[in-house]
Amino acid sequence: MSLGLSGQKVLVFGLAKSGVAALRLLRHHGAEVTALDARAEDALGEVGREVKALGATLVTGPTPPGLLASQDLVVVSPGVPLALPEIEAARAAGVAVWGEVELAWRFLSSVPLFGITGTNGKSTTTALTGELFSRGGRRTFVGGNLGRPFSEAAMSPGDWDALVVELSSFQLEGIRTLRPRGAVILNLTPDHLDRYASHAEYGAAKARIFQNQLGQQAQPGQHQQGPDFAVVNAEDADVMGLAREAKVPVYGFSVSGRTVVDTPKLAGLAVVEEGGFRLDFLGERYRLNNRALRGAHNAQNAMAAVLLARLGGVAADAVQAGLDSYPGLPHRLESVRVLEGVEWVNDSKATNVDSVLVALRAFKGDLWLIAGGKGKGAPYAPMVEEGRGKVKGVLTIGQDADTLARAYAGQAPVHACGTLAAAVAKARDLAKAGDTVLLSPACASYDQFKNFEDRGDTFKRLVGAL
Ligand code: ADP
Repeated sequence: MSLGLSGQKVLVFGLAKSGVAALRLLRHHGAEVTALDARAEDALGEVGREVKALGATLVTGPTPPGLLASQDLVVVSPGVPLALPEIEAARAAGVAVWGEVELAWRFLSSVPLFGITGTNGKSTTTALTGELFSRGGRRTFVGGNLGRPFSEAAMSPGDWDALVVELSSFQLEGIRTLRPRGAVILNLTPDHLDRYASHAEYGAAKARIFQNQLGQQAQPGQHQQGPDFAVVNAEDADVMGLAREAKVPVYGFSVSGRTVVDTPKLAGLAVVEEGGFRLDFLGERYRLNNRALRGAHNAQNAMAAVLLARLGGVAADAVQAGLDSYPGLPHRLESVRVLEGVEWVNDSKATNVDSVLVALRAFKGDLWLIAGGKGKGAPYAPMVEEGRGKVKGVLTIGQDADTLARAYAGQAPVHACGTLAAAVAKARDLAKAGDTVLLSPACASYDQFKNFEDRGDTFKRLVGAL
């Protein structure tokens, strides 16, 4: 597909990973590309050189007046707010404005797309869904907001039988025609209130995932495997509210078996039961005993992924095989090692209290919790409460150690360790066979590490050396 981009003037706004991938795609199709980034050229480093090598014009710093309005098309990276005055002005001048995922979709619209959004669990659900489709023998692209930018898939559309794409609310704001065959909203909790005026506006951005879905069979030339469908968390009232906007059959998942009252009629429900879950509308049961998917939150992610896969045509035995073999994502309840009966778990991605709560719920007890770092100001009381009777002791690190210690005072023994290395050494002394040592910091990592990945990798290295 050419899309008629050859010789067209296209501006790519924002040069992080997705922007650069869009630029490559546009150059591949012969567009005349200008690349714009608010950062200075020095700060762009290698990216600036690559942009030039690709034959694009690089513009850095403040947006020159009139630059956007003189384009045929503006492609916006997810990191750049669509509400910027220069973008609104370009739109008012009649310039097409697309998000990077919309650009990619224009080349991929004949391949079934399975889109995943929500506040938490997107990456896990995306990676697992990818595993299920791959197990089912589909040549599957897995990416979007996680891993590979969607524009990479569009470089070779013929390579894919299925597209499994994580979509952030920022990416969804930039879609026009992108149409998932199956669309998931996992949950909706207050987030990104820096970029959205309200919770309702944030929800509206997520609900765009349903906007182009079709209730009937696809048009000739489009993928033909059945009508589009939506998958939602049937216990989340906000998500169920958004599901009203779907014009397609809506499938739900529920850990408790209950669903929000006063909801649209569900076409089917996935429900947790002992050892796994069942799909009521198909009469199928799935086992869930993969360590990488422990915890009720991961049961939700697994049910969403299985609904996508089964409704997307993956065979039931392949789905079960994928659930069993899914390797997990690093830094999310990642089992690092069992040493003399003690399991060491890396949950470095837990940079806030809510994430620690879901981690604590995933274990029965006998936990040694390593926590602390650059605090976010939220109270620690909920995690103290959730850990009552489960947490044998807390090993604190980083800047917020004292605040954590005060929260746990009188509730659980606290060991001030300062560094992750000291905490690992202390935990090695304290933990007995049957215990679990859990790094789930409830804090950002920037006081002592580059990012949460660096913190998790350091933990794994330290534990590996025990
Ligand atoms: P995202 O890509 O949306 O950030 P991840 O799959 O990377 O999601 O998970 C991030 C964190 O969110 C996890 O470490 C866990 O603490 C929490 N989480 C994961 N799945 C869920 C869920 N279904 N509901 C609530 N919290 C979740």
